[in-house]
Amino acid sequence: MFDKVLIANRGEVALRILRACRELGIKTVAVHSQADRDAKYVKLADESVCIGPSQSGDSYLHVPAIMSAAEVTDAEAIHPGYGFLSENADFAEIVQSSGLTFIGPTAELIRTMGDKVAAKRAMKEAGVPCVPGSEGPVPEDDKELRDLAREVGYPVMIKAAGGGGGKGMRVVHTEASLSNAVSMTKAEAEKAFGNSMVYMEKFLGQPRHIEFQVLADQHGNAIHLGERDCSVQRRHQKLVEEAPAPGIDEETRRRMGERCAEAARKLGYTGLGTYEFLYENGEFFFIEMNTRLQVEHPVTEQITGVDLVKEQIRVAAGQPLRFRQEDIEIEGHAVECRINAENPEKFTPSPGTISHLHLPGGPGVRIDSHAYTGYVIPPFYDSLIGKLIVEGEDREEAMARMGRALEEFIVGGIETTIPLHQRLLRDGRFQAGGVDIHFLERFLGEE
Ligand code: ADP
Repeated sequence: MFDKVLIANRGEVALRILRACRELGIKTVAVHSQADRDAKYVKLADESVCIGPSQSGDSYLHVPAIMSAAEVTDAEAIHPGYGFLSENADFAEIVQSSGLTFIGPTAELIRTMGDKVAAKRAMKEAGVPCVPGSEGPVPEDDKELRDLAREVGYPVMIKAAGGGGGKGMRVVHTEASLSNAVSMTKAEAEKAFGNSMVYMEKFLGQPRHIEFQVLADQHGNAIHLGERDCSVQRRHQKLVEEAPAPGIDEETRRRMGERCAEAARKLGYTGLGTYEFLYENGEFFFIEMNTRLQVEHPVTEQITGVDLVKEQIRVAAGQPLRFRQEDIEIEGHAVECRINAENPEKFTPSPGTISHLHLPGGPGVRIDSHAYTGYVIPPFYDSLIGKLIVEGEDREEAMARMGRALEEFIVGGIETTIPLHQRLLRDGRFQAGGVDIHFLERFLGEE
């Protein structure tokens, strides 16, 4: 096992990783920007290193500063968390070539999965169902392009191979606008991602977002830990997640999960990975793979009893998986609400000082948060200040528990998404389960 791990991230996920390391007896190095200097989780770490000014480009994304922090502290491995450098193949490569361990898959696999055309190809070969569309980049020739779109069936979506964060996508409803949409998306993709390659997919009208969690070791073993439903999103940002996904039966879970695990084995994938699918009319369509820990990982932990971060660190250290597929049992239901420092109606950021914080507790309640009374939320980063996760015997109990936990949750001095979660929980469609990815925006529009 590693002796010391550097955590190349901030906020709640830095604390989550620190907790896992502590329990594994690993020493921790927290790196932080000037803005995060006084954060309590930084003080909890065995060592801390300031890696630069507040702007993430000069600190959390600044590879030379992070590498020198690893060097001076003698860290053996780097955990990238999520966001920032977590899916940056060049960073993973630098970490590896410096003789340190990158806690995640190999740079090569991150690179493949970061190219969505390559990722889809790999998935298709591995037997994972994908959204129908172009096999690879769209054809250059106009007639071939039109024929393809007709074959796929309108509406179609033009997507950047190098896209991410919901950018570089365009829906096309008619042939008349097709060629123009392709050139515009190409130009945008070139500008935003330095890669003008675009591909085509059938546009699904009302899908749900369902993702499968996989864990693989370096010895050819891979298991799945069921699925999560993350359909409640605004501008492709998830707000509420739950596991298992309502309406997915055991047999479907087993079949899809096994395909994902099998794909991981075929690819030689290692560590934690998430296969994201759109789910419509009982069918799954792969859209992308995330090669890192996800924000919403706790709901899976609550229903499987597996500490994903500890297992991720263990497999990165070369240990074989401690579970076989048949050891994984899904029990109960878990829900996560993201508590963001934002206006709950307009979603404008609400940085500032938390004047008062009272956290909910009691049976089945988990809080993953780096916040405390007096904590100053810096304006430089994302607005996630914590996650409220609850579990219950079934979905009904979990939802009732979430409702009462949100009532207990008091954050003074700033605005948060708590009131929005409370309104959502009262909505009949949300209560029924299985809403599609456009539900939240409709709900907000209706209010
Ligand atoms: P990104 O990497 O930018 O997040 P994704 O491929 O994961 O891109 O797509 C982001 C979101 O865009 C999806 O969660 C979904 O809401 C929407 N989307 C993507 N592909 C399709 C599609 N073929 N049909 C309908 N919606 C789609």
